[in-house]
Amino acid sequence: MIFEIDGDKLVLTAPNSFTLRIVQERFLPEISKRALPFFSAPPQIELRIEKRSAKSNAKPVMEAAVASKPIAIAPAKPAKSPNKLNPALVFDTFVTGKANQLAHAAAIQVAETPGVAYNPLFIYGGVGLGKTHLLQSIGNLVTKQNPQAKVCYIHATNYISGVVRAFQTKNFDEFKQFYNSLDLLLIDDIQFIADKPGTQQEFFYTLNSLIDTNKQVVITCDTFPKEISGIEPRLTSRFTCGLTVAIEPPGLEMRVAILLQKAATSGSPISEDVAFFIAKHVRSNIRELEGALNRIEAYARFHKRQISIELAKEALKDLLAAQNKQVSMENIQKTVADFYRIKIVDLLSKKRSRIIARPRQIAMTLARELTQLSLPEIGNAFGGRDHSTVLHACKTIESLRNSDSALNADFNLLNQTLRG
Ligand code: ADP
Ligand code: MG
Repeated sequence: MIFEIDGDKLVLTAPNSFTLRIVQERFLPEISKRALPFFSAPPQIELRIEKRSAKSNAKPVMEAAVASKPIAIAPAKPAKSPNKLNPALVFDTFVTGKANQLAHAAAIQVAETPGVAYNPLFIYGGVGLGKTHLLQSIGNLVTKQNPQAKVCYIHATNYISGVVRAFQTKNFDEFKQFYNSLDLLLIDDIQFIADKPGTQQEFFYTLNSLIDTNKQVVITCDTFPKEISGIEPRLTSRFTCGLTVAIEPPGLEMRVAILLQKAATSGSPISEDVAFFIAKHVRSNIRELEGALNRIEAYARFHKRQISIELAKEALKDLLAAQNKQVSMENIQKTVADFYRIKIVDLLSKKRSRIIARPRQIAMTLARELTQLSLPEIGNAFGGRDHSTVLHACKTIESLRNSDSALNADFNLLNQTLRG
């Protein structure tokens, strides 16, 4: 079987019709998936039979593009259209709160004084928390303030395809020149270059060259740089030589603020009650919040009804049902006990030593966030405690999360684990 990249196509040449059929019937989805990093969008796959055996009666078969969404927006050939900025992603529409204010402040500063403040700026956080939005906002602001600036936004998968193409077409000089001539490089989801040593080497040179000439680089990633496996240490240490900031999952109030803002700009404002209702149930990330809101708006339009909590409940019925199944009190107690290596019976006992009491308070707080149970019900589930004990636990944990970063990290981890 021969694999060749021909423009936007992947050409597979089989030695005979038998192999061709097997590949066609069994392996196309897998091949398509594995080929993705080499293309800017899911490639069209063309199947051929090798010339010398083409006498056989099987004809070359064309296979339509495998249907799936394109994985990235930026072009694979950056030289042609480097500036793929989405004008909708600007600072004005970015809601700030405790979870992202540091990243937001750093992004603004970098956009206002590129190459001067922090270089590189490295923003990391889980999916759907606003990394791409911030990255694009920087690009849009820099372009607005200085239309001459050479700005490139690129998703790491497209950068990889660029390296691959430069190899294939032996156009490395052009490739290097393009990146080295930028004033601002915004590279999204850098974790994708893990286990791609060729790309890493190339990126290392580009990064050094840009930073050395005071050209701004902003990088996003789904994890803390030192925790990405499969990336050379010299590169990860370069990532952290500027400023590294995290974006955390938004808290309840911030989720409400985001919903209110999105609803207002989409032209169908919602009340605070409705926003609280959605925010209480959709907790994982901002992309999902938007999804839930869109669903509610569409549902209201379709049924020609006003948006109310009642309507939100109907529109999000499936989501709510799935959620209720997911996070049970037993699950919270078991997960917290496992995490802190204590016994569930101790968690539910009257023991007051801190080694038990703290995890208990954390478990209670998680139960309040993740289940629909009332304070007395939660108290009950923890060995028949009073509702005021639960409230006290929640307040204690809330204030500790501000002062104790290790505890805050544990809490976030447990929270995300439980949400699945
Ligand atoms: P990530 O790149 O971290 O996966 P995105 O930047 O794509 O996340 O954000 C997901 C969606 O949520 C986008 O539509 C984005 O505009 C929106 N979003 C994220 N953070 C905010 C925020 N702080 N305020 C308003 N919208 C946000
Ligand atoms: Mg993103």
